[in-house]
Amino acid sequence: MVLKIENTQITDWKGYKGRPFLISGPCSAETEEQVMETARQLAALNQVSVFRAGIWKPRTRPNSFEGIGSEGLKWMRRVKQETGMLIGTEVANEKHVYEALKYGVDMLWIGARTTVNPFTVQEISDALQGVDVMVLVKNPVNPDIELWVGAIERIAGAGITRIGAIHRGFSTYEKTLYRNQPNWQLPIELRRRIPDLPIICDPSHIAGARAYLHEISQKAMDLNFDGLMIESHIDPANALSDSAQQLTPNDLKELLTRLIMRNPNPDDPKLLDVLGELRQQIDIYDDHLLDLLEKRMKIAEKIGMYKKENNITILQSLRWDEIIRRAVIRGQTKGLSAEMIDGIFKAIHQESINHQMRVMNNER
Ligand code: PEP
Ligand code: MN
Repeated sequence: MVLKIENTQITDWKGYKGRPFLISGPCSAETEEQVMETARQLAALNQVSVFRAGIWKPRTRPNSFEGIGSEGLKWMRRVKQETGMLIGTEVANEKHVYEALKYGVDMLWIGARTTVNPFTVQEISDALQGVDVMVLVKNPVNPDIELWVGAIERIAGAGITRIGAIHRGFSTYEKTLYRNQPNWQLPIELRRRIPDLPIICDPSHIAGARAYLHEISQKAMDLNFDGLMIESHIDPANALSDSAQQLTPNDLKELLTRLIMRNPNPDDPKLLDVLGELRQQIDIYDDHLLDLLEKRMKIAEKIGMYKKENNITILQSLRWDEIIRRAVIRGQTKGLSAEMIDGIFKAIHQESINHQMRVMNNER
């Protein structure tokens, strides 16, 4: 059961400048100069709602730069005063929350390594009780939707009404093209479960390299995500953290110009007509599929009855291996992926067994 989340529409969030809701700034605040100059250049784009910078950095190995600490919050406060952009940073414990709020930070986010730990998320939630601040919850490093939802519920439990999720990808043991696997099905499932929750994509931590930022951002926009968090640094080559994935404010501008924004709610009647008609066709086929499944299960029940009368076990795996093998081959000639056919037929098999069991147990 998902907690009822009282959330404010992202379009009503302070600082909203249109889709994509843009959060940008360096991975880490390093020096006052670096923070101020990055912020000035980003502010000049006129599209960034929130200036981000990591103050406390969760680093994989010790002896890496672990963040400048509270000193950097003074620089961020200056950014807010001088550029008008809102400011945001990562918090990983209650001390971070108190420090950030003391300096007027408008947006806090919970990092991927923190979302995995319900104790810490609860500690942060307790520190946020009664505070009016934007809070974004990054996905946990492992692809576990329940942990992600659980963390969002804990934050909602503090009474926060501007909550969003950040999709930053999932770590894997194997080396892959991207630093973190996007597993797009997880944010899509999150949207299904909590439709009103804004989802921000963080292409920087998914990509791990500048070259992939555009394609990931485009995909996020095509999936109708609400915003993007993209790391930007005036001198990426010399950044103290995440150097390969940061881009200059100028390159960010270029990326944004190339983004194609498709219409999530077309209102042109002609477009709607064509789409409406195609959707009706889809609905008809979906009804067919359901009718077919119903008929198929009726046959399974007859088989169940026959097995019962003749004292034969329900599960006959050789027969099922053969059905799936045949369906996969046939599906491939129709352009249907083996993965999908395998998934669907396994589900049908399970349902078939359930129906036969009911017959055996005289429940039907
Ligand atoms: C970050 O945003 O700089 C960061 C550390 O992110 P994540 O929690 O996604 O690793
Ligand atoms: Mn980073």
